[in-house]
Amino acid sequence: MSRRIDMGAFPHIWCRANNKRGDFLVSKIETLLTLQDVDLQIRDIEKELEDIPARQKLEESRLQEHREALGAAEDKHKAAQAAVQQLELEAESIQERIRKLRQQQVELKTNKEFKTMEHEIEMAQKDILLLEDKELVLMEGVETSRLIVKESSADLKDEEEAVAEDVKALDGRAGELKDELGALKAERDKAAGEVDASWLQHYERLLSRRKDRVVVPLQEGICGGCHMKLPPSVLHNTHRKTDMVVCEYCGRLLYS
Ligand SMILES: [Zn+2]
Repeated sequence: MSRRIDMGAFPHIWCRANNKRGDFLVSKIETLLTLQDVDLQIRDIEKELEDIPARQKLEESRLQEHREALGAAEDKHKAAQAAVQQLELEAESIQERIRKLRQQQVELKTNKEFKTMEHEIEMAQKDILLLEDKELVLMEGVETSRLIVKESSADLKDEEEAVAEDVKALDGRAGELKDELGALKAERDKAAGEVDASWLQHYERLLSRRKDRVVVPLQEGICGGCHMKLPPSVLHNTHRKTDMVVCEYCGRLLYS
């Protein structure tokens, strides 16, 4: 009869008892892992949301280069036009001089004086021809700079459209993330409600200090967080699943 009350004779009872106790703790860890999973998703989404305005600014900064290119092209074009106008003014003033010389010429008394003035008029007309040649060359420059302005302006317009699209897409993404965040926060409240209060407190304290996982597996005696080798007793404790097991190096919660 004594053998009948020896628990060793009823291994299935032990098993069930162990499993029951184990299951309870496994589920304690599981609720915490579920919570951690939701918290890490929330953290990722918050980070992405936080980065969106900077990403939009970066998109818009792409325009600066194109605006500067257009500004430089316009300046060059204006300078080319001004150079042509300057030549035209010079030519006009020579024409004016020729007109005056012609008026004076009719009043001249001697043939010699007349010829001298005729020579002066011819020289001035040559100057005008030279100016006209120069003007033709400059006009080509004006046409080139006009085309560059046109191209730069089209480039800027294309870029503005592309940036507007990207900024809009990021706004859309922000909207999606906010919706996701709302749903995850509700999920988080539910998950947190299922975690043992003292475990939750410890977990939240750890999470506020760390950027990554705070509930980590103990694999072959090594902490899944800081990768330090822990004494065999720690592995034993995680197997026992009776209490919170904490890494003595990094403070993370361990499970196996
Ligand atoms: Zn550790």
